[in-house]
Amino acid sequence: MQITFHGAARAVTGSMHLLEVNDQRVLLECGLFQGRRAETYERNLNFPFDPATIDAVVLSHAHIDHSGNLPNLVKQGFRGAIWSTAATRNLSAYMLLDSGHIQEKDVEYVNKGRRRKGEAPIDPIYTQEDARACLSYFVSVGMERSVPVADGVKVTFYEAGHILGSAIVVLEIREHKTGKEWRIVFSGDLGREEMAILRSPTVIREADILLMESTYGNRLHDSYESARHRLGDIIVRTTKRRGKVIVPAFAVGRTQELVYALNQLDAAGDIPQLPVFVDSPLAVNATDVFRMHPEAWDSDVEKFLSADGRRSPFDYPNIEYVRDVRRSKQLNFLTEPAVIISASGMAESGRILHHLKNNIGDPENTILIVSFQAQETLGRRILEGAKQVRIFGEEYTVRADVEHINGYSAHADQAELLEWANHFDKPRLQKTFLVHGEEEASFTLAEKLRNQGHREVEVPVRGQKFSF
Ligand SMILES: [Zn+2]
Ligand SMILES: [Zn+2]
Repeated sequence: MQITFHGAARAVTGSMHLLEVNDQRVLLECGLFQGRRAETYERNLNFPFDPATIDAVVLSHAHIDHSGNLPNLVKQGFRGAIWSTAATRNLSAYMLLDSGHIQEKDVEYVNKGRRRKGEAPIDPIYTQEDARACLSYFVSVGMERSVPVADGVKVTFYEAGHILGSAIVVLEIREHKTGKEWRIVFSGDLGREEMAILRSPTVIREADILLMESTYGNRLHDSYESARHRLGDIIVRTTKRRGKVIVPAFAVGRTQELVYALNQLDAAGDIPQLPVFVDSPLAVNATDVFRMHPEAWDSDVEKFLSADGRRSPFDYPNIEYVRDVRRSKQLNFLTEPAVIISASGMAESGRILHHLKNNIGDPENTILIVSFQAQETLGRRILEGAKQVRIFGEEYTVRADVEHINGYSAHADQAELLEWANHFDKPRLQKTFLVHGEEEASFTLAEKLRNQGHREVEVPVRGQKFSF
Protein backbone atom coordinates (compact mmCIF):
# COMPACT_ATOMS: atom_id res chain seq x y z
CA MET A 1 0.00 0.00 0.00
CA GLN A 2 1.17 3.52 -0.78
CA ILE A 3 0.08 7.01 0.24
CA THR A 4 1.17 10.08 -1.74
CA PHE A 5 0.58 13.60 -0.43
CA HIS A 6 -0.39 15.71 -3.43
CA GLY A 7 -1.77 18.80 -1.66
CA ALA A 8 -2.28 20.56 1.68
CA ALA A 9 1.24 19.31 2.44
CA ARG A 10 3.08 22.09 4.33
CA ALA A 11 0.19 24.32 3.20
CA VAL A 12 -3.45 24.75 4.10
CA THR A 13 -5.24 24.59 0.74
CA GLY A 14 -5.47 22.09 -2.12
CA SER A 15 -6.11 19.03 0.06
CA MET A 16 -5.43 15.88 -2.00
CA HIS A 17 -3.92 12.53 -0.95
CA LEU A 18 -3.67 9.38 -3.07
CA LEU A 19 -4.04 5.90 -1.62
CA GLU A 20 -2.95 2.94 -3.78
CA VAL A 21 -3.67 -0.68 -2.85
CA ASN A 22 -4.77 -3.85 -4.73
CA ASP A 23 -4.23 -2.01 -8.06
CA GLN A 24 -6.89 0.46 -6.94
CA ARG A 25 -6.42 4.20 -6.63
CA VAL A 26 -8.54 6.04 -4.08
CA LEU A 27 -8.24 9.81 -3.90
CA LEU A 28 -8.79 11.37 -0.49
CA GLU A 29 -10.19 14.82 -1.36
CA CYS A 30 -9.73 16.89 -4.47
CA GLY A 31 -9.38 20.47 -3.23
CA LEU A 32 -8.57 23.69 -5.00
CA PHE A 33 -5.18 25.17 -4.27
CA GLN A 34 -5.61 28.86 -3.41
CA GLY A 35 -2.86 31.44 -3.67
CA ARG A 36 -1.34 33.72 -6.28
CA ARG A 37 -3.24 33.61 -9.56
CA ALA A 38 -0.49 32.53 -11.97
CA GLU A 39 0.64 29.61 -9.79
CA THR A 40 -2.86 28.45 -8.83
CA TYR A 41 -4.12 28.29 -12.41
CA GLU A 42 -1.44 25.88 -13.65
CA ARG A 43 -1.46 23.79 -10.52
CA ASN A 44 -5.24 23.35 -10.37
CA LEU A 45 -5.52 22.74 -14.10
CA ASN A 46 -3.00 19.87 -14.24
CA PHE A 47 -3.27 16.87 -11.93
CA PRO A 48 -0.11 15.01 -10.88
CA PHE A 49 -1.84 11.78 -12.11
CA ASP A 50 -4.28 10.79 -14.84
CA PRO A 51 -7.81 11.45 -13.45
CA ALA A 52 -9.17 8.56 -15.56
CA THR A 53 -7.07 6.11 -13.48
CA ILE A 54 -8.72 7.08 -10.17
CA ASP A 55 -11.28 4.50 -9.01
CA ALA A 56 -13.00 6.45 -6.23
CA VAL A 57 -12.89 9.75 -4.33
CA VAL A 58 -13.57 10.11 -0.60
CA LEU A 59 -14.49 13.62 0.51
CA SER A 60 -14.37 14.78 4.14
CA HIS A 61 -16.38 18.00 3.77
CA ALA A 62 -17.66 20.62 1.35
CA HIS A 63 -15.08 23.41 1.79
CA ILE A 64 -13.58 24.37 -1.57
CA ASP A 65 -10.01 23.68 -0.43
CA HIS A 66 -11.15 20.02 -0.09
CA SER A 67 -13.73 19.62 -2.86
CA GLY A 68 -13.15 22.49 -5.30
CA ASN A 69 -11.27 20.64 -8.04
CA LEU A 70 -13.76 17.76 -8.37
CA PRO A 71 -15.46 19.29 -11.45
CA ASN A 72 -12.06 19.39 -13.16
CA LEU A 73 -11.35 15.77 -12.15
CA VAL A 74 -14.59 14.64 -13.80
CA LYS A 75 -13.96 16.91 -16.79
CA GLN A 76 -10.61 15.15 -17.29
CA GLY A 77 -12.00 11.62 -17.25
CA PHE A 78 -12.74 10.49 -13.68
CA ARG A 79 -15.75 8.13 -13.77
CA GLY A 80 -15.89 6.60 -10.28
CA ALA A 81 -18.00 7.54 -7.27
CA ILE A 82 -17.42 10.53 -4.99
CA TRP A 83 -18.24 9.31 -1.46
CA SER A 84 -19.41 11.89 1.08
CA THR A 85 -22.07 12.50 3.73
CA ALA A 86 -25.48 13.71 2.49
CA ALA A 87 -24.99 17.22 3.94
CA THR A 88 -21.60 17.49 2.21
CA ARG A 89 -23.20 16.51 -1.08
CA ASN A 90 -25.98 19.08 -0.64
CA LEU A 91 -23.62 21.89 0.34
CA SER A 92 -21.36 20.93 -2.58
CA ALA A 93 -24.23 21.49 -4.99
CA TYR A 94 -24.25 25.19 -4.13
CA MET A 95 -20.54 25.60 -3.43
CA LEU A 96 -19.22 23.94 -6.58
CA LEU A 97 -21.66 25.87 -8.79
CA ASP A 98 -20.57 29.06 -7.06
CA SER A 99 -16.93 28.06 -7.60
CA GLY A 100 -17.61 27.38 -11.30
CA HIS A 101 -19.03 30.88 -11.56
CA ILE A 102 -15.91 32.32 -9.87
CA GLN A 103 -13.61 30.35 -12.25
CA GLU A 104 -15.48 31.78 -15.24
CA LYS A 105 -15.32 35.35 -13.89
CA ASP A 106 -11.62 35.05 -12.98
CA VAL A 107 -10.68 33.93 -16.47
CA GLU A 108 -12.76 36.70 -18.03
CA TYR A 109 -10.69 39.20 -16.05
CA VAL A 110 -7.38 37.50 -16.91
CA ASN A 111 -8.29 37.31 -20.59
CA LYS A 112 -8.92 41.07 -20.71
CA GLY A 113 -5.29 41.59 -19.75
CA ARG A 114 -4.06 38.89 -22.14
CA ARG A 115 -5.95 40.46 -25.02
CA ARG A 116 -4.25 43.81 -24.34
CA LYS A 117 -0.87 42.08 -24.51
CA GLY A 118 -1.85 40.21 -27.69
CA GLU A 119 -1.82 36.82 -25.92
CA ALA A 120 -4.27 33.98 -26.63
CA PRO A 121 -7.18 33.68 -24.17
CA ILE A 122 -7.17 30.85 -21.61
CA ASP A 123 -10.08 28.62 -20.56
CA PRO A 124 -11.54 28.47 -17.05
CA ILE A 125 -10.34 25.48 -15.01
CA TYR A 126 -13.98 24.50 -15.05
CA THR A 127 -17.34 26.11 -15.62
CA GLN A 128 -20.71 26.05 -13.84
CA GLU A 129 -21.73 23.42 -16.40
CA ASP A 130 -18.76 21.19 -15.37
CA ALA A 131 -19.72 21.68 -11.71
CA ARG A 132 -23.27 20.54 -12.47
CA ALA A 133 -21.97 17.46 -14.33
CA CYS A 134 -19.74 16.47 -11.41
CA LEU A 135 -22.66 16.42 -8.93
CA SER A 136 -24.09 13.24 -10.44
CA TYR A 137 -20.98 11.32 -9.34
CA PHE A 138 -21.67 11.89 -5.62
CA VAL A 139 -22.86 8.99 -3.49
CA SER A 140 -24.09 9.97 -0.01
CA VAL A 141 -23.49 7.86 3.08
CA GLY A 142 -24.79 8.43 6.61
CA MET A 143 -22.41 8.94 9.53
CA GLU A 144 -21.04 5.74 11.10
CA ARG A 145 -22.09 3.43 8.25
CA SER A 146 -19.32 1.41 6.58
CA VAL A 147 -19.24 1.18 2.80
CA PRO A 148 -16.80 -0.53 0.44
CA VAL A 149 -15.38 2.13 -1.91
CA ALA A 150 -12.76 0.01 -3.70
CA ASP A 151 -11.41 -3.55 -3.69
CA GLY A 152 -10.17 -4.08 -0.12
CA VAL A 153 -11.02 -0.54 1.03
CA LYS A 154 -13.90 0.18 3.42
CA VAL A 155 -14.81 3.72 4.53
CA THR A 156 -16.73 5.00 7.56
CA PHE A 157 -17.52 8.67 8.26
CA TYR A 158 -17.60 10.08 11.81
CA GLU A 159 -18.71 13.57 12.87
CA ALA A 160 -15.80 16.06 12.67
CA GLY A 161 -17.77 19.06 14.06
CA HIS A 162 -16.13 21.53 11.65
CA ILE A 163 -18.89 22.49 9.18
CA LEU A 164 -22.24 20.90 8.43
CA GLY A 165 -21.64 17.36 7.13
CA SER A 166 -17.93 17.40 7.93
CA ALA A 167 -16.48 13.97 8.61
CA ILE A 168 -13.48 12.21 10.03
CA VAL A 169 -12.73 9.42 7.54
CA VAL A 170 -11.81 5.95 8.75
CA LEU A 171 -10.41 3.62 6.07
CA GLU A 172 -10.13 -0.10 6.73
CA ILE A 173 -7.75 -1.65 4.25
CA ARG A 174 -6.80 -5.20 3.36
CA GLU A 175 -4.01 -5.83 0.89
CA HIS A 176 -4.69 -9.15 -0.89
CA LYS A 177 -1.11 -9.89 -1.99
CA THR A 178 0.42 -9.70 1.48
CA GLY A 179 -2.64 -10.24 3.66
CA LYS A 180 -1.68 -7.07 5.58
CA GLU A 181 -4.37 -4.89 7.12
CA TRP A 182 -4.38 -1.26 8.19
CA ARG A 183 -6.80 1.10 9.82
CA ILE A 184 -6.14 4.62 8.56
CA VAL A 185 -7.80 7.62 10.22
CA PHE A 186 -7.95 10.90 8.29
CA SER A 187 -9.12 13.75 10.51
CA GLY A 188 -10.36 15.97 7.66
CA ASP A 189 -10.72 19.43 9.24
CA LEU A 190 -11.47 19.14 12.96
CA GLY A 191 -13.97 21.44 14.63
CA ARG A 192 -14.29 22.47 18.25
CA GLU A 193 -16.18 20.90 21.09
CA GLU A 194 -17.85 24.15 22.15
CA MET A 195 -18.96 25.26 18.66
CA ALA A 196 -22.67 25.93 18.43
CA ILE A 197 -25.10 24.01 16.17
CA LEU A 198 -22.76 21.11 15.32
CA ARG A 199 -21.84 18.15 17.46
CA SER A 200 -18.30 17.76 18.80
CA PRO A 201 -15.56 15.95 16.86
CA THR A 202 -15.77 12.19 17.46
CA VAL A 203 -13.11 10.69 19.70
CA ILE A 204 -11.37 7.83 17.91
CA ARG A 205 -8.96 5.49 19.66
CA GLU A 206 -7.75 2.95 17.13
CA ALA A 207 -5.52 3.61 14.13
CA ASP A 208 -2.37 2.22 12.54
CA ILE A 209 -1.82 5.35 10.49
CA LEU A 210 -3.14 8.82 11.27
CA LEU A 211 -3.44 11.72 8.83
CA MET A 212 -4.26 14.82 10.77
CA GLU A 213 -4.88 18.50 10.08
CA SER A 214 -2.68 21.07 11.82
CA THR A 215 -4.08 24.48 10.75
CA TYR A 216 -3.79 25.97 14.25
CA GLY A 217 -1.03 23.68 15.52
CA ASN A 218 0.69 26.72 17.05
CA ARG A 219 -2.26 28.82 18.28
CA LEU A 220 -5.01 29.01 20.87
CA HIS A 221 -8.47 30.51 20.29
CA ASP A 222 -10.72 32.55 22.55
CA SER A 223 -13.76 30.68 23.82
CA TYR A 224 -17.05 30.57 21.96
CA GLU A 225 -18.94 31.85 24.95
CA SER A 226 -16.78 34.98 25.21
CA ALA A 227 -17.23 35.52 21.45
CA ARG A 228 -21.02 35.65 21.88
CA HIS A 229 -20.74 38.16 24.74
CA ARG A 230 -18.43 40.36 22.67
CA LEU A 231 -20.86 40.15 19.75
CA GLY A 232 -23.68 41.34 22.02
CA ASP A 233 -21.58 44.21 23.43
CA ILE A 234 -20.57 45.42 19.97
CA ILE A 235 -24.20 45.46 18.80
CA VAL A 236 -25.39 47.30 21.91
CA ARG A 237 -22.67 49.95 21.55
CA THR A 238 -23.23 50.48 17.82
CA THR A 239 -27.00 50.68 18.26
CA LYS A 240 -26.57 53.38 20.91
CA ARG A 241 -24.68 55.43 18.31
CA ARG A 242 -27.54 54.71 15.85
CA GLY A 243 -25.03 52.91 13.62
CA LYS A 244 -24.95 49.69 11.60
CA VAL A 245 -22.84 46.59 12.18
CA ILE A 246 -21.36 45.31 8.92
CA VAL A 247 -19.99 41.77 9.06
CA PRO A 248 -18.02 40.15 6.23
CA ALA A 249 -18.63 36.42 6.83
CA PHE A 250 -18.09 33.15 4.99
CA ALA A 251 -21.41 32.10 3.49
CA VAL A 252 -21.19 28.53 4.75
CA GLY A 253 -20.68 27.93 8.44
CA ARG A 254 -19.71 31.29 9.89
CA THR A 255 -22.92 33.01 8.73
CA GLN A 256 -25.13 30.33 10.28
CA GLU A 257 -23.13 30.38 13.52
CA LEU A 258 -23.60 34.16 13.73
CA VAL A 259 -27.31 33.95 13.01
CA TYR A 260 -27.75 31.35 15.74
CA ALA A 261 -25.71 33.49 18.17
CA LEU A 262 -27.91 36.52 17.36
CA ASN A 263 -31.01 34.36 17.83
CA GLN A 264 -29.74 33.36 21.29
CA LEU A 265 -28.84 36.97 22.22
CA ASP A 266 -32.30 38.08 21.07
CA ALA A 267 -34.06 35.33 23.05
CA ALA A 268 -32.11 36.31 26.17
CA GLY A 269 -32.94 40.01 25.68
CA ASP A 270 -29.21 40.80 25.53
CA ILE A 271 -29.48 42.89 22.35
CA PRO A 272 -32.04 45.50 21.36
CA GLN A 273 -34.71 44.70 18.77
CA LEU A 274 -33.07 45.47 15.43
CA PRO A 275 -33.23 44.05 11.93
CA VAL A 276 -30.60 41.51 10.87
CA PHE A 277 -30.00 40.95 7.16
CA VAL A 278 -28.19 37.97 5.65
CA ASP A 279 -27.32 39.42 2.27
CA SER A 280 -25.62 36.72 0.19
CA PRO A 281 -27.38 34.26 -2.14
CA LEU A 282 -24.88 31.52 -1.30
CA ALA A 283 -25.38 32.08 2.44
CA VAL A 284 -29.17 31.94 2.01
CA ASN A 285 -28.89 28.68 0.04
CA ALA A 286 -26.43 27.22 2.55
CA THR A 287 -28.81 28.08 5.41
CA ASP A 288 -31.49 26.03 3.62
CA VAL A 289 -29.11 23.07 3.62
CA PHE A 290 -28.52 23.57 7.37
CA ARG A 291 -32.31 23.50 7.91
CA MET A 292 -32.49 20.30 5.86
CA HIS A 293 -30.06 18.45 8.16
CA PRO A 294 -31.35 18.58 11.74
CA GLU A 295 -29.64 15.20 12.26
CA ALA A 296 -26.37 17.15 12.42
CA TRP A 297 -27.46 19.65 15.11
CA ASP A 298 -26.18 19.18 18.64
CA SER A 299 -28.33 18.72 21.73
CA ASP A 300 -27.87 22.38 22.79
CA VAL A 301 -29.84 23.47 19.73
CA GLU A 302 -32.70 21.15 20.69
CA LYS A 303 -32.65 22.54 24.23
CA PHE A 304 -32.69 26.13 22.98
CA LEU A 305 -35.58 25.48 20.59
CA SER A 306 -37.77 23.75 23.15
CA ALA A 307 -37.02 26.26 25.95
CA ASP A 308 -37.63 29.36 23.86
CA GLY A 309 -40.35 28.08 21.59
CA ARG A 310 -38.34 28.99 18.50
CA ARG A 311 -38.74 27.12 15.25
CA SER A 312 -35.19 26.84 14.08
CA PRO A 313 -31.75 28.14 15.02
CA PHE A 314 -31.82 30.24 11.85
CA ASP A 315 -35.19 31.95 12.06
CA TYR A 316 -36.58 34.58 14.37
CA PRO A 317 -38.79 37.59 13.73
CA ASN A 318 -36.00 40.14 13.16
CA ILE A 319 -34.01 38.20 10.60
CA GLU A 320 -34.38 38.61 6.86
CA TYR A 321 -32.64 36.54 4.20
CA VAL A 322 -31.91 38.51 1.05
CA ARG A 323 -31.58 36.75 -2.30
CA ASP A 324 -33.01 39.41 -4.56
CA VAL A 325 -30.50 41.98 -5.80
CA ARG A 326 -33.10 44.81 -5.71
CA ARG A 327 -33.72 44.15 -2.03
CA SER A 328 -29.96 44.09 -1.46
CA LYS A 329 -29.68 47.54 -3.05
CA GLN A 330 -32.50 48.87 -0.84
CA LEU A 331 -30.25 48.16 2.14
CA ASN A 332 -28.02 51.01 0.92
CA PHE A 333 -30.74 53.44 2.04
CA LEU A 334 -31.19 52.04 5.55
CA THR A 335 -30.99 54.77 8.15
CA GLU A 336 -31.91 52.73 11.23
CA PRO A 337 -29.50 50.56 13.25
CA ALA A 338 -29.13 47.08 11.74
CA VAL A 339 -26.78 44.14 11.38
CA ILE A 340 -25.77 43.21 7.83
CA ILE A 341 -23.99 39.87 7.38
CA SER A 342 -22.67 39.45 3.87
CA ALA A 343 -20.05 37.56 1.84
CA SER A 344 -17.28 37.13 0.83
CA GLY A 345 -15.70 36.46 4.20
CA MET A 346 -12.47 38.28 3.38
CA ALA A 347 -14.27 41.13 1.58
CA GLU A 348 -12.66 40.29 -1.75
CA SER A 349 -15.84 40.09 -3.81
CA GLY A 350 -19.61 39.88 -3.50
CA ARG A 351 -22.25 42.11 -1.94
CA ILE A 352 -20.19 42.90 1.16
CA LEU A 353 -18.20 45.34 -1.01
CA HIS A 354 -21.30 47.51 -1.52
CA HIS A 355 -22.05 47.54 2.20
CA LEU A 356 -18.44 48.43 3.08
CA LYS A 357 -18.39 51.17 0.49
CA ASN A 358 -21.60 52.68 1.90
CA ASN A 359 -20.77 52.37 5.58
CA ILE A 360 -17.02 52.42 6.14
CA GLY A 361 -16.76 56.22 6.10
CA ASP A 362 -19.23 56.78 8.94
CA PRO A 363 -17.96 56.74 12.58
CA GLU A 364 -21.35 55.58 13.88
CA ASN A 365 -20.92 52.21 12.16
CA THR A 366 -18.91 49.15 13.09
CA ILE A 367 -17.05 46.83 10.72
CA LEU A 368 -16.90 43.52 12.54
CA ILE A 369 -14.28 40.96 11.49
CA VAL A 370 -15.11 37.42 12.65
CA SER A 371 -12.72 35.18 10.73
CA PHE A 372 -9.20 34.71 9.48
CA GLN A 373 -8.22 37.31 6.85
CA ALA A 374 -5.53 36.26 4.37
CA GLN A 375 -2.74 38.62 3.35
CA GLU A 376 -3.48 40.98 0.47
CA THR A 377 -7.25 40.93 1.09
CA LEU A 378 -9.43 43.98 1.79
CA GLY A 379 -10.54 42.34 5.04
CA ARG A 380 -6.92 42.09 6.19
CA ARG A 381 -6.24 45.75 5.39
CA ILE A 382 -9.30 46.86 7.35
CA LEU A 383 -8.35 44.57 10.24
CA GLU A 384 -4.81 45.98 10.32
CA GLY A 385 -6.17 49.50 10.71
CA ALA A 386 -5.67 50.98 7.22
CA LYS A 387 -6.91 54.59 7.17
CA GLN A 388 -7.68 54.51 3.43
CA VAL A 389 -8.99 51.52 1.47
CA ARG A 390 -9.78 50.98 -2.18
CA ILE A 391 -13.22 49.58 -3.07
CA PHE A 392 -14.37 49.25 -6.70
CA GLY A 393 -11.39 51.36 -7.77
CA GLU A 394 -12.15 54.29 -5.46
CA GLU A 395 -10.50 55.46 -2.23
CA TYR A 396 -12.54 55.49 0.99
CA THR A 397 -11.47 56.81 4.39
CA VAL A 398 -12.05 54.33 7.22
CA ARG A 399 -13.96 56.18 9.94
CA ALA A 400 -16.14 53.31 11.14
CA ASP A 401 -15.14 51.47 14.29
CA VAL A 402 -13.26 48.25 13.41
CA GLU A 403 -13.77 45.33 15.80
CA HIS A 404 -12.38 41.80 15.76
CA ILE A 405 -13.71 38.65 17.42
CA ASN A 406 -11.40 35.64 17.10
CA GLY A 407 -13.43 33.07 19.06
CA TYR A 408 -15.53 31.94 16.08
CA SER A 409 -12.91 29.74 14.42
CA ALA A 410 -14.28 26.45 13.05
CA HIS A 411 -10.90 24.74 13.51
CA ALA A 412 -9.62 23.06 16.64
CA ASP A 413 -6.74 25.01 18.20
CA GLN A 414 -3.47 23.53 19.43
CA ALA A 415 -4.88 22.33 22.76
CA GLU A 416 -7.92 20.77 21.08
CA LEU A 417 -5.83 19.05 18.37
CA LEU A 418 -3.53 17.58 21.02
CA GLU A 419 -6.44 16.41 23.10
CA TRP A 420 -8.04 14.68 20.12
CA ALA A 421 -4.76 13.04 19.08
CA ASN A 422 -3.98 11.86 22.60
CA HIS A 423 -7.07 9.60 22.65
CA PHE A 424 -5.37 7.23 20.20
CA ASP A 425 -3.85 3.98 21.38
CA LYS A 426 -0.22 5.11 20.99
CA PRO A 427 1.52 1.72 20.92
CA ARG A 428 -0.70 0.74 17.98
CA LEU A 429 -0.16 3.98 16.03
CA GLN A 430 2.73 3.38 13.61
CA LYS A 431 2.84 6.79 12.03
CA THR A 432 1.20 10.20 12.26
CA PHE A 433 1.24 12.53 9.25
CA LEU A 434 0.47 16.20 9.78
CA VAL A 435 -1.18 17.90 6.80
CA HIS A 436 -3.31 21.02 6.21
CA GLY A 437 -1.05 23.52 8.00
CA GLU A 438 1.64 26.10 7.30
CA GLU A 439 5.09 24.70 8.15
CA GLU A 440 5.40 26.57 11.42
CA ALA A 441 2.02 25.32 12.66
CA SER A 442 2.68 21.72 11.60
CA PHE A 443 6.22 21.61 13.02
CA THR A 444 5.10 23.06 16.35
CA LEU A 445 2.31 20.49 16.64
CA ALA A 446 4.66 17.65 15.54
CA GLU A 447 7.06 18.51 18.36
CA LYS A 448 4.24 18.58 20.93
CA LEU A 449 2.92 15.21 19.71
CA ARG A 450 6.38 13.62 19.93
CA ASN A 451 6.73 14.93 23.48
CA GLN A 452 3.40 13.35 24.34
CA GLY A 453 4.38 9.88 23.14
CA HIS A 454 3.47 9.77 19.44
CA ARG A 455 6.23 7.63 17.97
CA GLU A 456 6.71 8.72 14.39
CA VAL A 457 5.36 12.10 13.35
CA GLU A 458 5.98 13.25 9.78
CA VAL A 459 5.19 16.54 8.07
CA PRO A 460 5.24 15.38 4.43
CA VAL A 461 6.16 17.65 1.53
CA ARG A 462 4.05 17.83 -1.60
CA GLY A 463 4.58 14.81 -3.85
CA GLN A 464 6.13 12.68 -1.09
CA LYS A 465 5.19 9.01 -1.24
CA PHE A 466 5.20 6.50 1.63
CA SER A 467 5.00 2.69 1.28
CA PHE A 468 3.66 0.38 3.95
ZN1 LIG B 1 -12.72 23.08 6.15
ZN1 LIG C 1 -9.63 22.98 4.98
